Amino acid sequence: MSYIGRFAPSPTGPLHFGSLLAALASFLDARSNNGQWLLRIEDLDPPREQEGLKEKFPEVLEAFGLYWDDELSLQSERLEYYRDVLQQLLDSGDAYRCSCSRKEIQQRSGNLLYDQHCLLHPPEEGANCAIRVCCKDSLISFRDIIQGPHAYNLKTSSGDFVVYRRDGLFAYQLAVIVDDYLQGITHVVRGSDLLDETPRQIHLQQLLGYPSPAYAHIPVANNSEGQKLSKQTYAEALDCSHPAPVLYKALQFLDQEPPAELQQGYRDEVLEWAIQNWDIRKISAVKGKILQTGNI
Ligand code: GLU
Ligand code: ZN
Repeated sequence: MSYIGRFAPSPTGPLHFGSLLAALASFLDARSNNGQWLLRIEDLDPPREQEGLKEKFPEVLEAFGLYWDDELSLQSERLEYYRDVLQQLLDSGDAYRCSCSRKEIQQRSGNLLYDQHCLLHPPEEGANCAIRVCCKDSLISFRDIIQGPHAYNLKTSSGDFVVYRRDGLFAYQLAVIVDDYLQGITHVVRGSDLLDETPRQIHLQQLLGYPSPAYAHIPVANNSEGQKLSKQTYAEALDCSHPAPVLYKALQFLDQEPPAELQQGYRDEVLEWAIQNWDIRKISAVKGKILQTGNI
């Protein structure tokens, strides 16, 4: 079986220990299956981007010995693909233009679940519009390799969702499934914070006739207050000068039980051991775990 995996960070904050977990888990799963591993930078939202960050991502991954295959790809250079797929969804009637503001939606429905107002009353040509995808009142189910079976009714959980924003930017949901398809991704290994995004991605894949990759959502690292490590919780940027102990810590977090003597090992020894001994079934089926140290 051929295997193509990927790591797909967004340049909205520096890579931190939580990012390394997703990078390492997807890398090890690919390498232990003799697969390819791609690096895709999801730079779709220029206003939220930090200057100079995306140039740093490859350097950080290299410092940790996580070398990717092929050229890295940038979503900002792939906009014409997203535009084509968006048009395809509009032409098939699976998507429609929506001129509602969040405030209007909230006032009408009491929450942010979209009430299909613009499906029934199409906005005028030329109006500033988002584009939403129609959802069915049926269950989307999938078996996550780590988190087990999941089923969602998109009609009641998310409603018709946005694939193109009113401010003229493509939404993550659209770009991610187009790229996963065009790059032939067979396995998506990423943080459990994206588990609830998965049914929308599967729905889009089904509308477009794309196969769905296998999904594996690893537990995210939380701080002692139970908050996910992220730039909002001021997770520290990775220190690239001593990669081996950080990799060791990440393997422990991912329940791989690295032997104690590896703690003093070199970076490539740690990675070699990890590729040889990677067992995704050992990873706990929980959405988050507390990271037992403050100094990463
Ligand atoms: N770019 C997304 C993020 O950094 C991840 C996309 C994915 O792995 O599907 O949260
Ligand atoms: Zn609307």
